[in-house]
Amino acid sequence: MATRKSRSGILSFPTSGVFVCSDGTQVPWTAKRGDSATKTSARYTVSKGLVITLGHFDIMGPEAFLEMNREWVEKSARKMEAQHQVVLLSEKYLPVVLQFSGIGEYYQVEYVKTQSERITSKVVPAAAGEVLPTLRISGPVDDKSACHRALRNFTTKRAKERLPLQLAANASAHGLRYSECKVRSLTSRWGSCSSKGVITLATQCVFLPAELCRYVICHELAHLHHMDHSKDFHAFLKTMDPQEAAHQRECNKQLALIPAWMSASTGD
Ligand SMILES: [Zn+2]
Repeated sequence: MATRKSRSGILSFPTSGVFVCSDGTQVPWTAKRGDSATKTSARYTVSKGLVITLGHFDIMGPEAFLEMNREWVEKSARKMEAQHQVVLLSEKYLPVVLQFSGIGEYYQVEYVKTQSERITSKVVPAAAGEVLPTLRISGPVDDKSACHRALRNFTTKRAKERLPLQLAANASAHGLRYSECKVRSLTSRWGSCSSKGVITLATQCVFLPAELCRYVICHELAHLHHMDHSKDFHAFLKTMDPQEAAHQRECNKQLALIPAWMSASTGD
């Protein structure tokens, strides 16, 4: 998607971005120019996320519009969280935004139907004025399970590239050494650490809020010193993450928030 221009061709606004709520929650948004709309409006739905329709004669861009309507956006974001959980777990769901908060990456997703028999995906960098890059999935996109597979492959690729770097950075910050980092799809836990110092991180960590992804990494690093969950383990972990107890509880809840398409059993 390119930056849209108004009919006069003078005004151009970003067509996507991330709105940061006052509690730190990040809400990706997309914006389009309405064909008949005279006033800028916004809708926040579970299936499409936060979509802003720019009015024809509005000179205010989507960012200023969201800022002016901050209270509404934040209230909607809270309301949406509960509903989102239901949708994420729906096997038919095709996301329009990928939110990899754990590695700080966000993508808009476009599904483009072509005559090709094979689904392909590629990242289109954000155009000038745009904030989010686009993951373009093309081919027989009516085939939802094929789309899910493409989404899964892309998620795995990003996780394998980024999570080991985050582990390495945290290990060196705390003077800890592990022998190897593996990234695997795990469904019931976020990571593990073997007695030989092999740390395995779940691909799914990319879906965690950034501070929880960091917590998982610190938790596994702490196992390099203490293989159990003893008092000493927690005391050591606390030196790396003072909020470890709260983060642990939060991580347990987040296991239920992994999108259904991450699981290969959906429709494959
Ligand atoms: Zn543990």
